[in-house]
Amino acid sequence: MIFYEPATLEEATGLLAADEDARPLAGGATLVAMMNAELVEPTALVSLRRIASINGISVASDGTVTIGAMTTHHAVANTELLDGGQEIVRHAARVIGHPAIRNMGTMGGSISHADPAADYPAALVAANATIETFGPGGTRDIRADDFFVDFLETSLERGELVCAVRLPPSSHGATSAYEKFARVDGDFATLSVAVVMGMGTNVCSYIRVTLGSAGPTPVRADAADAALFGTKLDDDAVSAAAAILIEASDPLDDVRGSAEYRMMLVPELLRRAISGAREVRS
Ligand SMILES: Cc1cc2nc3c(=O)[nH]c(=O)nc-3n(C[C@H](O)[C@H](O)[C@H](O)COP(=O)(O)OP(=O)(O)OC[C@H]3O[C@@H](n4cnc5c(N)ncnc54)[C@H](O)[C@@H]3O)c2cc1C
Repeated sequence: MIFYEPATLEEATGLLAADEDARPLAGGATLVAMMNAELVEPTALVSLRRIASINGISVASDGTVTIGAMTTHHAVANTELLDGGQEIVRHAARVIGHPAIRNMGTMGGSISHADPAADYPAALVAANATIETFGPGGTRDIRADDFFVDFLETSLERGELVCAVRLPPSSHGATSAYEKFARVDGDFATLSVAVVMGMGTNVCSYIRVTLGSAGPTPVRADAADAALFGTKLDDDAVSAAAAILIEASDPLDDVRGSAEYRMMLVPELLRRAISGAREVRS
């Protein structure tokens, strides 16, 4: 197997486009484990470590935050650059695996692998994020809603790399919360709920709710958000939204929980996430 360490995105995508069995290597937390288990056998690894332009977190003058693909979960979990609703991504980073995984794993590696039980996908959809990519066809901006297309499948094309994730400026007074239920500390989610919301005078003025681990891709439903918008977020509104989200879900039965069990968790985790986001505000 050949190991490449290009210094530019152009070089990296050129290497990947030239060999369909070559794989990009980010933190290696998932890819190396898959190679050890002989689930994948790349002919070449194209390390992204030396490409400085895709590492780090920055804020534009309008408040848009850009998180480079090679930024570790640890860096996201500890950044002070996120504001209001954008903080959902930090909440998710803080509960990924354990410290060794957070030091190795990267934003780009996590979302490119697209594990439905991973923490970033639901958080990025709730944050209305955009994924910036670069490949043989040039650059693309893909809405997080459209990026995750199926179980372990994204809209990335051959040779195309995730360069960064862009979080829109947080609207005034927005808050967020991420509720994750896992069988044991440090495990992938049995179910997670990401909420980004704002309150007007006693009523909800903005909300985006997304479930993780409730289907092959993050689960969102406009009707669920509509059931909460304009209400005081009382129990009736939360129950109505939970019922809509359950209807929209397509959960797996696996070692982390049966489909039925996952769905039983939805109302309570949604209630906790909404109340957590409201507490941030007060
Ligand atoms: C024990 C353990 C526990 C974990 N727990 C959790 C958890 O609780 N929550 C959670 O969300 N995750 C968890 N993870 C996964 C972890 O977050 C990994 O960081 C992540 O899945 C992969 O990130 P990486 O940077 O190591 O990518 P790699 O392993 O290097 O790559 C993963 C895949 O993405 C591709 N890739 C990498 N970077 C790019 C890019 N920029 N563009 C296109 N393709 C790219 C690779 O070719 C490979 O197919 C866990 C992993 C382990 C091993």
